[in-house]
Amino acid sequence: MTSFDVQRVRGQFLILQQQINGYPLVYLDSAATAHKPECVLQAMLDFYRTDNANVHRSAHTLASRATQKFEQARQRVADFLHARRREEIIWTRGTTESINLVAQTWGLQSLQAGDEILLSAMEHHANLVTWQQVARQTGARLRIIPLLESGELDMQAYQAMLSTHTRMVAIVHVSNVLGTVNPVADVVRLAKQAGALTLIDGAQAVAHAPVDVQALGCDFYAFSGHKVYGPTGIGVLYGRKEILAQLPPWQFGGEMIRKVTFTESEFSLPPLRFEAGTPAIAEAVGLSAALDFLCEQLAAGAEVYQQQLLQRLLQGLQQIDGVSLVGQPAARQGVVSVVLAHAHHHDVCQLLDAQGIAVRSGHHCAMPLLHSLGLAGTLRISLGVYNNETEIDAFLQALRQALELLH
Ligand code: PLP
Repeated sequence: MTSFDVQRVRGQFLILQQQINGYPLVYLDSAATAHKPECVLQAMLDFYRTDNANVHRSAHTLASRATQKFEQARQRVADFLHARRREEIIWTRGTTESINLVAQTWGLQSLQAGDEILLSAMEHHANLVTWQQVARQTGARLRIIPLLESGELDMQAYQAMLSTHTRMVAIVHVSNVLGTVNPVADVVRLAKQAGALTLIDGAQAVAHAPVDVQALGCDFYAFSGHKVYGPTGIGVLYGRKEILAQLPPWQFGGEMIRKVTFTESEFSLPPLRFEAGTPAIAEAVGLSAALDFLCEQLAAGAEVYQQQLLQRLLQGLQQIDGVSLVGQPAARQGVVSVVLAHAHHHDVCQLLDAQGIAVRSGHHCAMPLLHSLGLAGTLRISLGVYNNETEIDAFLQALRQALELLH
């Protein structure tokens, strides 16, 4: 193993110090939501204790401090994603809202009958249902890029599907079911050659490795605060300045206007144009602290460390009878799904919980993917920076016991 000091990291997560059903908590569900380190909780508490005020409104001291912190947080996100400008970062409630924003503004404004939206067969419902609705409203057609047996994107099929009709390629960076890391830079390059825009759903990617939107070349990139050790209720949409400038507002009200009369309104420039109403201010401050925390961990070797844990997990799973991996992608981050030959995933999930082990069972908001694999659900194990080898081994042992009991 690397010299990554996981013990020090665990000290930041008091939630992990509890027992569940008499056993130490083993949390292997970070893909659903990650826990929050003390530094994030403290940043939010400090904000409420010392700076709390609404942003972009009043001239008093607290208001200007709150606005400054809020906009500094936006800059923090821009730096984290390597965006060119702070104005390319829009606050949303999460990945789902970020995708809805693009679909409802760009999609409704630009799409028409004959146009095509390309998605992959491994999309989360957030990046599927959204586009289904817009396709229905505009007459555009959804086309689904198939997967190889390994759970990787069929890049040949993708290339063959691209045409002058393709207007948008919206694709997940890392699959929340298969763990597949998609070659998004290639996906974007090919989409651009066809003249299409690109949106990357980064919900599962950002917590595991650095992301550089300029290097990827994408037009939009979405992620959620709560999956990167930040608070719930806040997320990010990165949009290229040139594209954002052409988009109409989505929701209407305070904050997003420049001038209003009883008959007409003049809208703010991006990003405020897309941020109607009072935003999630303390959450933005918390997310900024979470990104500081994450970058610190990545600099200390968290990426390699988590890959090693993942390998230990995969090797252990392959040695258990009746357990099959769903997808075997060459590049994987943070997530493993398995199917169980002689037991139901929900029953196993409950038996694991009885030993303090939290994993997820079900369709993971990717029903069409599971259906295409002939599955109703999987048992999903997902990692965070705080997991350690002892936990992986405890999980493997408990899984073996559960399967013996249910066989
Ligand atoms: N996309 C992927 C790949 C996800 O894993 C998730 C959440 O699990 C989402 C989108 C939706 O994220 P949120 O519920 O935070 O909006």
